[in-house]
Amino acid sequence: MSKVLIIYTGGTIGMKKDYNSGSLMPFDFAHLIEHIPEITHLDCDLKVITLNLIKDSSDVGLSEWLEMSRIIEANYTKFDGFVILHGSDTMSYSSSAVSFLLQQLDKPVIFTGSQLPIGDLRTDAKENLISAIQLAILQKDGVPVIQEVGLYFEYKLYRANRTTKINTEHFKAFESPNYPVLVDSGLHMKINHQSLWRKKEENSPFDVKQNMCDEVVLCKLFPGFNPNYFESYLGEYKPRVLILETFGSGNAPRYNYFLDQLELMVESGIHVVNVTQCIGGGVMMGYYENSLYLKDLGVISGKDITTESAIAKAMLLSIESLSREDFERAFHQSLCGEISE
Ligand code: ASP
Repeated sequence: MSKVLIIYTGGTIGMKKDYNSGSLMPFDFAHLIEHIPEITHLDCDLKVITLNLIKDSSDVGLSEWLEMSRIIEANYTKFDGFVILHGSDTMSYSSSAVSFLLQQLDKPVIFTGSQLPIGDLRTDAKENLISAIQLAILQKDGVPVIQEVGLYFEYKLYRANRTTKINTEHFKAFESPNYPVLVDSGLHMKINHQSLWRKKEENSPFDVKQNMCDEVVLCKLFPGFNPNYFESYLGEYKPRVLILETFGSGNAPRYNYFLDQLELMVESGIHVVNVTQCIGGGVMMGYYENSLYLKDLGVISGKDITTESAIAKAMLLSIESLSREDFERAFHQSLCGEISE
């Protein structure tokens, strides 16, 4: 019988209403199982691990990403697949980060959660959880079909590090604008075999990275920003990486005050990565004059990576002090399908 490890981190899926405050707050996973007796009918052995503190995903960060990865590392050979229950708000960030920490993965790790708590009559939690477990045990000729970190939500499995949360209201809360859906769950699970990730070197052993660096900042540009915006944004703080969310295909204003600041940053050794504010498509530096100058300054193209993935990848790459060229080379190399090469 297949074995699945469920790692419960928190999120709406396991929340209940505090009738004093009217707010949703996390509760113990034991109650979650009580609400889905159906999962006992799945043809697999389930084990559940609950993180020490179950959290709203706004409170999840580096230490939880490392904890999830270490739990998977410690249990890798004992289970056929892993399901991580997580709040949807920052699920794209966490699942991107975990995809980078779990290198040379060849088993399924499926993130899921829900928009409505499991106890709600109209909940989306049951379908999401049951299908995520089914995907975690899906095998062909004894080999796992999914060999990457996926995100399952509302009848679709996506490559986790290609996703972004797009809706606070609809059950369809995620989108993968620059990469096809991996599995479409209808009457049958329709698997998009040619889009599934397979590690580059078949025999390379599973390798879990033990560290990430939080010296990364994100700056979203907007038309007409004040000359002090960019300077005061960082102040005295000198991060290792600045992710710059620019307009359209990677364009930024050519205000002198902005240009000078940017030049100073690149010269001081900060890696500046250009990602687009658009939901789909990517950065094409040099396509317009307003991005050509960024290229000349030494700004690195984020191509078609999502902002969530860019942040997580920058956190992984900046544990080492890399030269601008080495950082750029590493950033452009796809670790697990997060960027088009
Ligand atoms: N605030 C919740 C969280 O991200 C929302 C959700 O789970 O959907 O933890």
